[in-house]
Amino acid sequence: MKKTDVTCSECGAGFRRIELETQRGSKGEYHCPACGELLEKFDGNALVAYRLTIQPSIKGVRD
Ligand SMILES: [Zn+2]
Repeated sequence: MKKTDVTCSECGAGFRRIELETQRGSKGEYHCPACGELLEKFDGNALVAYRLTIQPSIKGVRD
């Protein structure tokens, strides 16, 4: 199991990404729930789960 931290480049939200290489996932995409930015495309070779750990600091406002 691989655990990594991912930060959304658009809104600054933080995620814990968990990858289970021994399990097959499904093909698809994961988008930031706060702003909709594409964070990752899944190829289905591993099961990947995202959990929001840091809320975006400023909602709806961008530099
Ligand atoms: Zn975002």
